[in-house]
Amino acid sequence: MTRPGGVWHNWGRSAQVRPQRVEFPATVAAVRRCVQAAAARGLRVKAVGAGHSFSEIAAAPGVLVDLSDLRGLVSVDRERGRVRLRAGTRLHSIPRLLAPYGLAMPNLGDIDRQTIAGAVSTGTHGTGDRFGGIATQVVAATLVTADGEVLTVDDDENPELLPAVALGLGALGILVDITLQCVPAFVLRAVERPEPLDAVVEALPRRHANVDHFEFYWFPHTEMALTKTNTRLPESAPRQRLSAPARWVDDTLLANGLYRVTCAAGLAAPPLVPGINRLATRLTGDREYTDESHAVFTQRRTVRFREMEYAVPLDRLSAAFGDLRALIADRGWRLSFPIEVRTAAADGLWLSTASGRDSGYIAVHRYWREDPAEYFDAVEQVMLRHEGRPHWGKMHGLDAAQLRQRYPRFAEFIALRDRLDPTRMFHNAYLDRVMGG
Ligand SMILES: Cc1cc2nc3c(=O)[nH]c(=O)nc-3n(C[C@H](O)[C@H](O)[C@H](O)COP(=O)(O)OP(=O)(O)OC[C@H]3O[C@@H](n4cnc5c(N)ncnc54)[C@H](O)[C@@H]3O)c2cc1C
Repeated sequence: MTRPGGVWHNWGRSAQVRPQRVEFPATVAAVRRCVQAAAARGLRVKAVGAGHSFSEIAAAPGVLVDLSDLRGLVSVDRERGRVRLRAGTRLHSIPRLLAPYGLAMPNLGDIDRQTIAGAVSTGTHGTGDRFGGIATQVVAATLVTADGEVLTVDDDENPELLPAVALGLGALGILVDITLQCVPAFVLRAVERPEPLDAVVEALPRRHANVDHFEFYWFPHTEMALTKTNTRLPESAPRQRLSAPARWVDDTLLANGLYRVTCAAGLAAPPLVPGINRLATRLTGDREYTDESHAVFTQRRTVRFREMEYAVPLDRLSAAFGDLRALIADRGWRLSFPIEVRTAAADGLWLSTASGRDSGYIAVHRYWREDPAEYFDAVEQVMLRHEGRPHWGKMHGLDAAQLRQRYPRFAEFIALRDRLDPTRMFHNAYLDRVMGG
């Protein structure tokens, strides 16, 4: 996404910047030199991952540090099932790195294009009442801090910093490696069905509590939900993979292809959107298969969009979704992208959207050529009434004063940021807004 001297933009084309310098360090020593050289020139520094955040969190107007060359496996602790990975490792490379050790990441989000550092730094999550986001898998990390020094956070050194460093928004330093707690490799039995929306919402607490991983998509202007239920099975369970042509028809032709058609209709002829959404729910999402966990958790997203996602307390999920449905019915918008509903277990990370509470997630999307402001602003107001916390990597309008109210450990995080980065070396406009400068 970046070329020296060129314009960097994120995947969703909602953020762009022309950095003053771009660096590609391949070693920890080179990362330290980048930070020290930037400090000497009075420039700010920002590590970027895959640019898959929709917010402007990764914009680097000063020195953009691209860690594409700092990737791969550092070491494996076979006994404890822990792997130490360089920070720029892409999620899609990790299954191959773990395979020789019979290990897997316990949970993943919808895609695997992100870097491990970017994913954990913004609180990337999947779904499942008993599973936390990817940052909850972090058991140790190494950072280069603003003074160019190396800070180790593990069981022996600075363990009290782990709940901040594991999900640090890029504000505490440049992560150079991350150690993940893995689980034995497993397979997932996937059942994907179109179902009547009212029945799904009515049974929602039971639906997500009784299975390993449950989520549903709702195409606005339809009465149907596409449900996804994944059950964990031992690696020895027989696979019933989708054939390559079947996967292509379902995921590329029908799913992504239909999004392309609805998005085009949304721009050219909005009245067609409800009909196409009804067609989409009839044609997609009716299949069963069993495959390696990462192949089931993640898909490809070929149609570009922008996204906002809020976490609400789990017991408010149905009510928040009901209010969102009422809002859409009220406003007369024509929305081509589905709304996604997921869950996560409470965790102890200071800035996690699930910090201290079991959480339900509601994500809204808009085709990248459409202005999302009116829709996202109105949805945000609904989510705030339900004690919502915005995803750090997705679009939202909150500032530090509002976020402070929503995170019990916010002040502690700010105090640590003040200690580790007193000159705001790692800040950009987004972090100034959400951390208060
Ligand atoms: C199509 C699509 C699907 C998505 N699906 C999901 C989903 O299912 N669930 C979900 O929760 N999110 C999802 N996201 C959001 C995405 O996972 C996050 O925004 C994630 O941060 C992107 O990782 P990245 O590598 O692109 O990081 P970037 O966006 O490049 O960077 C994000 C932040 O991480 C920091 N950072 C990156 N590397 C380092 C480092 N080495 N040290 C310190 N800080 C660093 C950056 O400075 C920045 O602050 C999706 C995004 C897209 C575009």
